[in-house]
Amino acid sequence: TDLSRIRNFSIVAHIDHGKSTLADRLIQETNTVAERDMKEQMLDAMDIERERGITIKANTVRIDWTAADGKDYVLNLIDTPGHVDFAYEVSRSMRAVEGSLLVVDSTQGVEAQTLANVYQAIDADHEIVPVLNKIDLPASEPARVAEQIEDVIGIDASNALLVSAKTGQGITETLQAIVDHLPAPKGDADAPLKAMLVDSWYDSYLGVIVLVRIIDGKLRKGDRVRFMGTGTVHHVDRIGVFRPAMTVVDELGPGEIGFLTASIKQVRDTKVGDTITHEKRPCDKPLPGFKPSVPVVFCGLFPVDANDFEDLRDAVDKLALNDASFSHEVESSAALGFGFRCGFLGLLHLEVVRDRLEREYDIDLITTAPSVVYHVHMKDGEVMELHNPADMPDVTLVDHVEEPRIKATILVPDEYLGDVLKLCQDRRGIQLDLTYAGARAMVVYDLPLNEVVFDFYDRLKSVTKGYASFDYQMIGYRQDNLVKMQVLVNEEPVDALSMMVHRDRAEMRGRAMVEKLKELIPRHMFKIPIQAAIGGKVIARETLSAMRKDVTAKCYGGDATRKKKLLEKQKAGKKKMRQFGKVEIPQSAFINALKMD
Ligand code: GDP
Ligand code: MG
Repeated sequence: TDLSRIRNFSIVAHIDHGKSTLADRLIQETNTVAERDMKEQMLDAMDIERERGITIKANTVRIDWTAADGKDYVLNLIDTPGHVDFAYEVSRSMRAVEGSLLVVDSTQGVEAQTLANVYQAIDADHEIVPVLNKIDLPASEPARVAEQIEDVIGIDASNALLVSAKTGQGITETLQAIVDHLPAPKGDADAPLKAMLVDSWYDSYLGVIVLVRIIDGKLRKGDRVRFMGTGTVHHVDRIGVFRPAMTVVDELGPGEIGFLTASIKQVRDTKVGDTITHEKRPCDKPLPGFKPSVPVVFCGLFPVDANDFEDLRDAVDKLALNDASFSHEVESSAALGFGFRCGFLGLLHLEVVRDRLEREYDIDLITTAPSVVYHVHMKDGEVMELHNPADMPDVTLVDHVEEPRIKATILVPDEYLGDVLKLCQDRRGIQLDLTYAGARAMVVYDLPLNEVVFDFYDRLKSVTKGYASFDYQMIGYRQDNLVKMQVLVNEEPVDALSMMVHRDRAEMRGRAMVEKLKELIPRHMFKIPIQAAIGGKVIARETLSAMRKDVTAKCYGGDATRKKKLLEKQKAGKKKMRQFGKVEIPQSAFINALKMD
């Protein structure tokens, strides 16, 4: 295709501002999909994403459109994941296109993810076309929101498009603006092949499918290509484009976006951001800035029923096939039996994976408290990466511990500002900035990631009644007074409940944990001390007193059938008991103790 007839773009938006609906409308308007095949939110492939309204994997579609000049154009839309956990994938897919539609809900205005995503687009040198969406709604204030875009983001919004992705108003104008205002790609068809690996996923029929953007040269079926970052060579057996259904083509040239398959078995071999070139006539240097994304949040996943372990193994192996940023290794715990220590890009990623395991594979799971990766500096100079608090070395061997910090941006209506500042302060935050964007305050905090993975987002939502928006990026590691807190039941440590905490917050967390456990562990014939400790020092303690009477007598008096039922229930429950020294603790106690509240 003639380069001047190609436009490559992505859509950036805060969640719920209408990105998917707009993409659907663009596809529909251009008859890319026959009317009867059009289902809502074409681009959100997985059910779980549809339900949660989030798009996780980048998706792409090629749209043919005849512009006002009567010429035919090829518009390639790459739909980027909208969530912060996938920031690296967003930044890579941004680099595969030249422009962005900036969608802002004209009833809401600029939000935290609007900012985060548009800054990524600016970083990628995009031309940006602002789209004010939902103008069909009575609460729409396009003039105010356009002004806000200029004030807060600093881009010209005087030619912002007025759109209703719902009714279709402004869609033709949007297509025309893409042709008029976004630049055509550049590239040299005769140069050696240079293509960017934008994304990849596993397909059970075709193996791994690789989404590519051709920079220079041509890619054809039958080519032998090298992935420069991983060093592997593959034989290309199929190339094509998405309309959005996969459609085979003969070749892909500069500026084009499409897919290849090459009998690749696992997505691990296809790193997002890698450069693809010909084995025989390689390009001289790869695209800049390739770095594989690494997990930052870890937790243990254990089957509630120990018999499900093999099923869980199959399920996590399958998931890992399709998700290179998800890591897992077998973990065994005295409390929870066999399970997996899993790594995620962030909390949302964790939730999505856990949900899929429970739903698609039908396995009930216990999730241990999420933990970040600490850098433990040993006295002998060695540095270890700590993924699991249970592996924390003896304190006498440790010089100091560093934890990951984030820069969090929160937009919030004025009236909730005080509560948000208090929340950030409570979580050991350092305020970096406080400005106003219209009637909303924008606060920027330096926060420990560890305090954010622990229910921060839920708290933020509840103190602001859902009106705050939040986004973050990692800023690096910093030393602090971090210690491992252990929980002991009848003097026996319970590994699954160990956690890393800041020394100043240890008493509070320890107290909360022992109080909860006191409620959850059934009484025995003897007294049971429940303690939280750092090193050898006990910082919180509760005592579960001994059982005095027969529980059945106490609870149910003389009712024989109810008594029988209770005994049966207890018998069934026995199977799910775990033994700690002399103490039996029901599995449910761990599940509940690990629940965050
Ligand atoms: P995304 O999270 O940015 O992909 O947003 P969606 O496309 O999923 O849209 C979020 C919600 O807004 C959905 O309920 C849409 O039906 C609705 N929506 C999107 N565009 C419009 C619009 O132009 N007008 C109205 N009234 N609703 C819209
Ligand atoms: Mg969406």
